[in-house]
Amino acid sequence: MFSGFTRMIDEVGRIVIPMQLRKELGMTEPGCKVEMFSDGKQIILKKSVCDCIFCKSETDLIEFENSYVCKNCLEKLKTTE
Ligand SMILES: [Zn+2]
Repeated sequence: MFSGFTRMIDEVGRIVIPMQLRKELGMTEPGCKVEMFSDGKQIILKKSVCDCIFCKSETDLIEFENSYVCKNCLEKLKTTE
């Protein structure tokens, strides 16, 4: 399915990804990352893998050293000390 949107780039190069697209891709949580590619004519945005390194949950994520840990696993880590 093709979803077409037009967005203006602001003065520092930012664009907003429409909520409809973020919902379609399951990217409504802040902190999710996108990968960007260019072939010289197009910019391609790809949903980056954004899940807990332990249980693969995609909710309640906390970023640490370029990886994500969910709150549940973080609590388990705290109690295993
Ligand atoms: Zn987890």
